[in-house]
Amino acid sequence: MRIPPKLALALGALALTAASTGLPAVTANAVTPSAADLQVVTLQAAAARTVYVTASSSAADISAVQVLLTAAGFATDVDGSYGPKTTAAVKAFQTKNKLTADGKVGPQTIAKLGPVLKEGASNTATKAVQRLLNKNGSSLAVDGKFGAGTKAAVVALQKRAGLTADGVVGPITWTYLFGPVVGGGGGGGDGECSKVTGGVAQSGTTVVAGTNIRVNKCWSGTITKMVAAAKADGVTLTANSSWRSPESQKALRNQNCPGATYQIRVYETPSSSCNPPTAKPGTSRHERGLAIDLANSGSRDTKVFKWMAANAGRYGVANLPSEPWHWSVDGH
Ligand SMILES: [Zn+2]
Repeated sequence: MRIPPKLALALGALALTAASTGLPAVTANAVTPSAADLQVVTLQAAAARTVYVTASSSAADISAVQVLLTAAGFATDVDGSYGPKTTAAVKAFQTKNKLTADGKVGPQTIAKLGPVLKEGASNTATKAVQRLLNKNGSSLAVDGKFGAGTKAAVVALQKRAGLTADGVVGPITWTYLFGPVVGGGGGGGDGECSKVTGGVAQSGTTVVAGTNIRVNKCWSGTITKMVAAAKADGVTLTANSSWRSPESQKALRNQNCPGATYQIRVYETPSSSCNPPTAKPGTSRHERGLAIDLANSGSRDTKVFKWMAANAGRYGVANLPSEPWHWSVDGH
């Protein structure tokens, strides 16, 4: 986002805020800004949100970071998993850009990693924008071409976020592309769901009317709308599994994971060594009431999967790529 030169002094005064939001610092000059200009700058600085991409972020956010690292010359596998190679690439990028090389993607790293992009761009970084727009409910082809469709999706996101809707992806818009879904078609409870970090008791869940799907109360409005939309398209969404109590997650681990003792089977065997992969107790999105294993969705050829692939993004609901049936609030 371009800041008019006469606002430079105001930005100087806001240097601390700018540093914490990842906005580029601007050197002060002698021009005195008007009160109205000051208000604009304050609003713009306040408009950025503090976002971190970590191992527990959505697969879309992690993939986008990997795409951007690759675009910046730090080739990284785009697998949606924030492992040692991604951490090393982030550190190398930070060192080159004179940032603290902590391997974590925070506001300052995002500001350097995400170039300013607008209609007409055709590059790898635009693929990251498209992935993140799809996470936010769009259905764009991830082709790296910033055309009218991508611009319209950026404008829509900016409007939902209360930003200047100019269709240009600058530092502030990047902070809204990453992180929790903005607005979306959800039930308005998504903000609450982003605060859920551990298992919930049954009293924190509810069954979506007319289904066997039990989810966290924060997610029920979203899922109710999604189920209704599927039904209108002739697709019935039912669950093989949705919310799980901590006890049932432990029982599942005991059943699916190899190990000599109960302790090892339930608490120590990596998820990937279980058949099917089964998250450790306390970490499954099912325990949070923020994941659904859909019935009749055993492969990508099913009617259910095809409908979800085309529509779930509008509700901020994402698929775990290794399991066509597993859909959650963040793709984990
Ligand atoms: Zn699942």
